[in-house]
Amino acid sequence: MIARSMADPTLAQRLLDGDRRALARAITLVEDNRPEGWELVREVYPHTGKAEVVGFTGPPGVGKSTLIGALTKARREAGRTVGVLSIDPSSPFTQGALLGDRIRLTEHFLDRGVFIRSMANRGALGGLSEAALQAALLLDAAGRQDVFVETVGVGQAEIDIIDHADTIVLVLMPGSGDSIQALKAGVMEIPDVIVINKADHPLTDTMIREIRGVLSLANLDRTPEEARGRWRVPIVKTEAVRGEGIDELVQRLQEHRDHILAAGQLDERRARNLRSEVLAIATARMRRRLEEDLHEDSEFQRLLDEVVQRRLDPASAAALLLDRAASLQQTVE
Ligand code: GDP
Repeated sequence: MIARSMADPTLAQRLLDGDRRALARAITLVEDNRPEGWELVREVYPHTGKAEVVGFTGPPGVGKSTLIGALTKARREAGRTVGVLSIDPSSPFTQGALLGDRIRLTEHFLDRGVFIRSMANRGALGGLSEAALQAALLLDAAGRQDVFVETVGVGQAEIDIIDHADTIVLVLMPGSGDSIQALKAGVMEIPDVIVINKADHPLTDTMIREIRGVLSLANLDRTPEEARGRWRVPIVKTEAVRGEGIDELVQRLQEHRDHILAAGQLDERRARNLRSEVLAIATARMRRRLEEDLHEDSEFQRLLDEVVQRRLDPASAAALLLDRAASLQQTVE
């Protein structure tokens, strides 16, 4: 696109070279839903797919950020580069305000091998999920070997970025019983790894027993064949503030990766995730286009009036609406 080339013809190349400023700029472009952002992702997309993406979810305050901080330290010591995305759908604050507050990664701020970015809900701009997925691709393209994605809150249906990770970690702490209920009720999908942080708490082992119970219930409807060779969700005890249990977590994450690679599930998972990403973006765009096409459309207004007057039911109105949108589209083309 001309605008982009004129503004910064080398952004894609600098991004691929791992330049941090280019990466920061690129993420801002997708966050602001700028056409240059989408263009950039298009250019660098063939270079993605190399990063190992781990998603962290769990209630606020359980220690996700602290845990990611400790994990980042471990990965850096192993010589790997790290990118962290912290997604907060509930916060209206901009990234500056969030950084100090949410991400407890201050010791990594000066390390060039660590790139940290927070993304909050952009209100009217919407599309946080879309933007977050694009941002993850950009981190990947910029050569970050480990990408940690953190979302705040459990069961945030609209924020499905976590589903796009290769490995999903649920972080809990003793006493976060709501999450166990959510697991039990099937509201929350069974994660790949469960971490019980703040494990110095006296109720830790009780909680682990409860979770084991929920996990074995979830396995009840499987045949022995299905159960065999299946990944057994490990429960890892950590004390993130003291770095306790981090080595074990690193090991479990590696085992999960090895497992899905050996079972051919990584490609399957990614294919499924990419399919839903394509559908999500297409759906969002169709909706936007429909709204634009029908804005101030008198025929649409008339249809709505019919529905309000109870002369036409909503489903029939929707069917007529789609016909109308299609014909409007043809006229434009
Ligand atoms: P998040 O909201 O899940 O990201 O949680 P944070 O990482 O911000 O941590 C919330 C609070 O719990 C902070 O005050 C941390 O210092 C504290 N915290 C984190 N890990 C531990 C731990 O292992 N033990 C104890 N006692 N406190 C912890």
